[in-house]
Amino acid sequence: MKNEISGIETIKEDEEHIYLRAGAGENWHRFVMYCVDKGYAGIENLSLIPGNVGASPMQNIGAYGVEIKDVFYELEAFHIKDGELRKFSRDDCAFGYRESVFKNKYRGQFVITRVTYRLSKQPKFNTSYGAIQQELDKMGIQSLTIKAISQAVINIRTSKLPDPKEIGNAGSFFKNPQVKKQELNRLQETFTNIPFYEVDEQHVKIPAGWLIEQCGWKGYRKGDAGCYPKQALVLVNYGSATGEEIYELSEKIMNSVRERFNIILEREVNII
Ligand SMILES: Cc1cc2nc3c(=O)[nH]c(=O)nc-3n(C[C@H](O)[C@H](O)[C@H](O)COP(=O)(O)OP(=O)(O)OC[C@H]3O[C@@H](n4cnc5c(N)ncnc54)[C@H](O)[C@@H]3O)c2cc1C
Repeated sequence: MKNEISGIETIKEDEEHIYLRAGAGENWHRFVMYCVDKGYAGIENLSLIPGNVGASPMQNIGAYGVEIKDVFYELEAFHIKDGELRKFSRDDCAFGYRESVFKNKYRGQFVITRVTYRLSKQPKFNTSYGAIQQELDKMGIQSLTIKAISQAVINIRTSKLPDPKEIGNAGSFFKNPQVKKQELNRLQETFTNIPFYEVDEQHVKIPAGWLIEQCGWKGYRKGDAGCYPKQALVLVNYGSATGEEIYELSEKIMNSVRERFNIILEREVNII
């Protein structure tokens, strides 16, 4: 069944925020562009993520320091068994890193029909993550706007991620592992240049792409299954690799990361 529920409506607004309800079948990037054009801030860092609005809460989509939970207000979902429409607040969704209640406890039980986001009329720019600032400098941006951030994200993403229309892929195949700071200190003794992002006072996240690259997988190809040469976090299907071949490759990558760093990678993708 293909969800084609469309439409973007304003539910309410005040001086600071606007609440937009979008049909689950709206294309995510088009929705981001709609908000950027109108000056509604909060999801500009999530530009160019493939897929639809209805899938955005499923795994709490995120990129460049922003997650959907930061702007999520509520959603409406159809319970397949009971045939009832239910509302879910932010708490009900139990968002986590690439997780929600729909990926876990309610897996396969609901069809998300509409999602309401709370966007800011006064932008709080988030340029701290990844190469955004570098790209903005390259673009010669003097005064920051959400349009500029969106364009910077689009530029970065198009330069390093494969277009699924050309090369089969599901984006990031693995989650960035979260480790305790003591564990990071242990790793730093051997790997002095290990990159990391602080999560809280006790934990950091280590880019899975870096770990995979260190194990020599970047650009690897066997048959039609491979590890993308420009971004090791993305596994690609160059044509006729089977699901099994991609899965096997992911197992091999996970094993070598475990052996070298004693870190267990978790898959971000759903295995069907
Ligand atoms: C090149 C590339 C880059 C990517 N980059 C990112 C990224 O930066 N950050 C990120 O978080 N993700 C990223 N992804 C993953 C993907 O874009 C997101 O997971 C996106 O939300 C998938 O949307 P979709 O509509 O294609 O959902 P699908 O892939 O079709 O579905 C994903 C899951 O959600 C369920 N689902 C979809 N719609 C609904 C609905 N309306 N109701 C109930 N269940 C539903 C499906 O059953 C399935 O289990 C990337 C993918 C690619 C290919």
